[in-house]
Amino acid sequence: MINKILVSACLMGFKVRYNGSAKAHLSAQLALWQQEQRLVIHCPELAAGLPVPRPPAEIMLADGKDVMHGQARIIENSGQDVTEQYQLAAWLALRTAQTSSCSAALLTEGSPTCGSQFIYDGSFSGVRKAGMGVAASLLSENGIAVFSENQIAELIAWIEEREGQKISPRKGDYAG
Ligand code: SF4
Repeated sequence: MINKILVSACLMGFKVRYNGSAKAHLSAQLALWQQEQRLVIHCPELAAGLPVPRPPAEIMLADGKDVMHGQARIIENSGQDVTEQYQLAAWLALRTAQTSSCSAALLTEGSPTCGSQFIYDGSFSGVRKAGMGVAASLLSENGIAVFSENQIAELIAWIEEREGQKISPRKGDYAG
């Protein structure tokens, strides 16, 4: 049985980021997984009804886990509190992953929703900090293995371990 992967829509070339851009990272490996119907393409923020474009938002002095536990807020650069919308985005990502039988997620790094290794610190000055976004955190807490686009090699190894077969890395998969 194949391990299905929830993947950030912007990584697949959809222009759904806050600024109307994609973060296209469609590698040969992702193309192959898409052919195998292994990928479930999803944008949590769009699913929660946020528009494109939308103001940038950051987690204030905390991380996605704190937001999901009601201990921190997400604020747009205008000062608008959008915590509830982002919490909904996280729950919708989890529901999509669970109803689609995804065991892993490949999410865009740095986002207050999808970031898994780092997010921005809430100062809107481009300062990174270690931590997860709201969806990455909720997925991880619910047993879904979360990887960023910088961890394609780790995701390949994770799949190989579970499926017991070698996946030949495709050219261009490690562009970071
Ligand atoms: S919520 Fe995730 S999938 Fe949607 S634009 Fe942001 S990083 Fe991409």
